[in-house]
Amino acid sequence: MDAEPHLERLTACLSRLPGIGKRSAARMAYRLMGDSRDLSRALIDTLQTALNEVRTCPQCGCLTGADQALCRFCVGTDRDSHLLCVVEDPGDIPAIEKTGGFRGRYHALMGHISPMQGTSPDDLRIGALLDRVRKEGIEEVVLALNTHVESDSTAIYLAERLKPLNVRVTRPAFGLPAASGIGYADPLTLSRAMAGRNEVIPVNRRRDD
Ligand SMILES: [Zn+2]
Repeated sequence: MDAEPHLERLTACLSRLPGIGKRSAARMAYRLMGDSRDLSRALIDTLQTALNEVRTCPQCGCLTGADQALCRFCVGTDRDSHLLCVVEDPGDIPAIEKTGGFRGRYHALMGHISPMQGTSPDDLRIGALLDRVRKEGIEEVVLALNTHVESDSTAIYLAERLKPLNVRVTRPAFGLPAASGIGYADPLTLSRAMAGRNEVIPVNRRRDD
């Protein structure tokens, strides 16, 4: 059998990772099967170990140790349990933690609403978010979503669902680049944006004012 079918399958897998286009994936596949076979073996080992040792926190969706019932953000007594930061992806959390200014807890949606990609609100962890706001005495939900059009629509949708629960809904304020991800913002910009949060007012409320 020729090598091509294997390389195509590997390319298809790699191109499913965020930020990896088809061409980059093909270059990786050729490199991994070519002169970087030691790296391939190290990747297999590391992936296998991480799969065994890391799991998703059932409460917030962040990643945590496989032997821990809940992650350190959910159980940490040094975290403000009244303040909840919603992110699209658990991978955005390290950037927010790096600012050092946020001491609340987190909730990962696992994406954003996208009619183009067929992602509906039911595909995201929105029901779990509403449950947490009802049960955990949360006073403010910070929507630290990305700055794409679909993320903006998701934020408005969430604000509409959250407002009846009598919770303050805010978004990081200024300075975040347009059409970008939270995880890509530099720490100083993100820290200022998190400190100067703006309230999100659903469209139907705006009309009433
Ligand atoms: Zn957690």
